[in-house]
Amino acid sequence: MTIQLQDPSLLKTQAFIDGLWMDSDSGETFAVTDPATGQPLADVASVGATETRRAIAAAERAMTEWTALPAKSRSEILEKWHRLIIENTEDLAVIMTAEQGKTLAESRGEVAYGASFIKWFAEEGKRVYGDIIPTPQTDRRGVVVKQPVGVVAAITPWNFPNAMITRKAGPALAVGCAIVLKPAAETPLSALALVELANRAGLPAGLFNVVPGSDAPSIGGEMTSNPTVKKVTFTGSTPVGKLLMQQCANTVKRTSMELGGNAPVVIFDDADLDLAVAGALTAKYRNSGQTCICANRLLVQEGIYDAFVEKFAAAVSEFRIGNGFDASTTHGPVISEKAAKEIDAKVQNAVAEGATVVIGGQPGEQGGCFYQPTVLTNVNDSMRVFREEIFGPVAPVFKFKTEEDAVRMANDTEFGLAAYLYTESMGRSWRVSEALEYGMVGVNETAISSEVIPFGGVKESGQGREGSKYGLDDYLETKYICFGALQR
Ligand code: ADP
Repeated sequence: MTIQLQDPSLLKTQAFIDGLWMDSDSGETFAVTDPATGQPLADVASVGATETRRAIAAAERAMTEWTALPAKSRSEILEKWHRLIIENTEDLAVIMTAEQGKTLAESRGEVAYGASFIKWFAEEGKRVYGDIIPTPQTDRRGVVVKQPVGVVAAITPWNFPNAMITRKAGPALAVGCAIVLKPAAETPLSALALVELANRAGLPAGLFNVVPGSDAPSIGGEMTSNPTVKKVTFTGSTPVGKLLMQQCANTVKRTSMELGGNAPVVIFDDADLDLAVAGALTAKYRNSGQTCICANRLLVQEGIYDAFVEKFAAAVSEFRIGNGFDASTTHGPVISEKAAKEIDAKVQNAVAEGATVVIGGQPGEQGGCFYQPTVLTNVNDSMRVFREEIFGPVAPVFKFKTEEDAVRMANDTEFGLAAYLYTESMGRSWRVSEALEYGMVGVNETAISSEVIPFGGVKESGQGREGSKYGLDDYLETKYICFGALQR
């Protein structure tokens, strides 16, 4: 299959280093496939440590002039990049659906969401304020300035092939850093199209390098050991995040980690049932369950439990899984056959331990990467679907009695990214929000993310925040300057 684009020159298959498109030194490539059909889409240059080292050196060279520019000049280039992304939405969405599988409507939504980070940070980059500190001594003043952290290395996942890049590249470039990005091997084409547009927007050579490759440890090893890299920003699984943090320790790099989640949706007896069903559906099945803030566990109070399950399952029965390019498809495939098998293993584990399949519970018939939207009841906290991130279209619905039970169950995980609750009680919404050990809480709302909010987790879901005014901090160092001898 070939990807049909209005502008075929957006389909890039080489690495982008120091402003130039290039093959890997070895000439090696890796195949990108369409998860809906299993068909190959493209062969992409597979680079390793050597090319990554060159990209890091180019980033360091390019940063000198970039940092010295007024923020306004950097902002103008980012604004232009933003415009080009919006203008090319359809092609970017087609590339994304082809390599990732999500529906075209979801891809268009992600392109807009991704672009919003570029626009936001183009604006916020002009507002990097410092402080003047009144000191205990009268002959001096303390001044705090914020400076770019240095060369940034970024490693991104396949579930949001566009937005997970822009929420890192946007702030990094806006404050004067240069960036070297390794996109996921499943979805490098979206990353390469994005950097092509940045290049067209006039971003100087070397500031944004993309090093695709199938040997992630080799590229990641160079990024985490190279002393020129001052910051590693990662979105992906908790085990890989921990490994990268360990590797970064040797050169004491700053890190931002956006790792796994195990989001609860807590639905109390006093919730608006229709609102809760609609919110839980979005939180669970968006991107076929493959987002780190996807509802992993639905916790429903006993008084509303049966009514919830009935309405929820009825809505799920309306879903149509299929190829993301078909207009009738509501939910696309999962990313790989391996992922589909892993989801099935978690479902079968629950069934073996006594869970009831209300709907779904099997691989899809549409191909090896499909899994039926599934609802499970009679589930308990010893099952894998309670303990582990499911990352697929499977909703286990747990029952709880009291508010205390709900909070205890919700917090009974090493993860702490997003949590949601549904209640009509003002007091309860405050109490429970404050008791939940999560970086983000949605009260009567599950579509909580945008460029203006601080996205990130606590516990083993990571550290650092992306988006919002706080998202700049991850790319800035705080420098204190003491102006002394003022009496002279
Ligand atoms: P997922 O399970 O969602 O694929 P991963 O954490 O495996 O999550 O992948 C997220 C990103 O991390 C991808 O770009 C992947 O290539 C990269 N990655 C995986 N293992 C390593 C590693 N050892 N070093 C550096 N990057 C890695």
